[in-house]
Amino acid sequence: MNTTSIDPSALIACPNCDLLHTARQVSEGERLRCARCGTKLASSRPNAIDRTLAAAVTNAILIVAALFFPFIQLDGGGTRQSATLIDAVSAFGTGLTAPLVLVVAAFIIVIPFMRASALVYTLWPLRFGRAPYKAAPQAFRLANTLKPWSMAEIFIIGVVVALVKIAGIAQVSLGPAFWMLTAVVLVLLLENHNFCRWTIWQVLGKHTQA
Ligand SMILES: [Zn+2]
Repeated sequence: MNTTSIDPSALIACPNCDLLHTARQVSEGERLRCARCGTKLASSRPNAIDRTLAAAVTNAILIVAALFFPFIQLDGGGTRQSATLIDAVSAFGTGLTAPLVLVVAAFIIVIPFMRASALVYTLWPLRFGRAPYKAAPQAFRLANTLKPWSMAEIFIIGVVVALVKIAGIAQVSLGPAFWMLTAVVLVLLLENHNFCRWTIWQVLGKHTQA
């Protein structure tokens, strides 16, 4: 095989099983899937960059806002206690579980926020038809690396399970921060639906070559 004639930018590797495919233009609404394992390789959705950017901006704002509002409120025995997200995370802060504070804070606050910021940094100039910022390839690579480590949804499920257990002891009400974090999870689902790593790399590549 004459490998010198292959243009690397015309190849697309499956992120799951590494099988190489020849890329082709995807028509609107179409999805390209791996021939071996079915993983999504590329999709063309109208305004994919706009939608991904909008989702990332929304998430960055919601994550920061969620830190300042009550997460849950407990009513029992004539007293009311409210806890913020930071209180909830710091609940692990004593004894052997202390390192868990950092891990939980990273998974539900720091990593989702860093990923949203990296996407905003990458996509913001592209949205307005300008050249990407200098570190856009690094930022976009970071956003892709962090994707599997953003675990707000697992935390929300854990909180719901815990609330069901204590519902018999005290009256529990969910604060605005809980709903903000739930919104983050839903927006992430929408974002992943519209997200096409390949399309964004193509756009970044066009600018760096020019
Ligand atoms: Zn595959």
